[in-house]
Amino acid sequence: MNVLLEAEDLDVRYGDFQALSGVGVRVGEGGALALVGANGAGKTTLLRTIAGAHRPARGRIRFAGADVTDSPPHQRVRAGIALVPEGRRLFPSLTAEENIRVGAVRARPGAWTLPRLYEVFPLIARCRTRRAALLSGGEQQAVAIARALASGPRLLLLDEISLGLAPAVVDGLYGALAELRATGTAVILVEQDLDRALAACHDLVCLLEGRVALSGPTDRLPRDQVIGAYFGSV
Ligand code: ATP
Repeated sequence: MNVLLEAEDLDVRYGDFQALSGVGVRVGEGGALALVGANGAGKTTLLRTIAGAHRPARGRIRFAGADVTDSPPHQRVRAGIALVPEGRRLFPSLTAEENIRVGAVRARPGAWTLPRLYEVFPLIARCRTRRAALLSGGEQQAVAIARALASGPRLLLLDEISLGLAPAVVDGLYGALAELRATGTAVILVEQDLDRALAACHDLVCLLEGRVALSGPTDRLPRDQVIGAYFGSV
């Protein structure tokens, strides 16, 4: 499998606080990586660093054969990296469809069209003319994912999409992700529900206090070992 994203030896600091130390991850074309770890382990920081929102103090990020370490976020979107941020961050006074169109501003050729997005997320089709502020949590999360897809990503970074949603709604979102994966889009998924993460992804990285505590293919990592790495007891 061709390597799509390779982040090596990343250090990221917030002032004096070092949030990531020597972190490396690798995702192949069409691959799926679960990023797990306790609160504050550095998962969001890693996704945001890959998306270009944080500049690492050390380390390199290569994407699709190019070094993007110094590229601003909008260039990374153009290159095919899209982030679905924690908390969704929709524009509350815009409609669902207007929010999705925001994501299409820097769309790559072949990006998902609105009709295609409505097919994959029927719940958005039903509420596309409603303001984001009035949507349910599940509808808002679907819109946030659709907005990222509207840019035509080759790699989708998903930060805790299940947070605060009913299990049936989360099932629907994961069903849509499976369709997305079938089109060859790679994903990095931050997920608190370890079983969902293990089921949805080929590979796993567990962070502990800003370092990689465990990594490998999900079919070769016993669940107990992942839980041990999560709590720092291995
Ligand atoms: P969670 O599951 O709670 O979202 P996380 O694994 O995503 O956690 P991060 O949000 O990446 O972790 O945070 C990693 C560490 O960096 C935490 O100790 C956090 O307090 C700290 N941190 C995050 N953002 C900032 C910031 N803007 N300024 C200072 N420290 C920060």
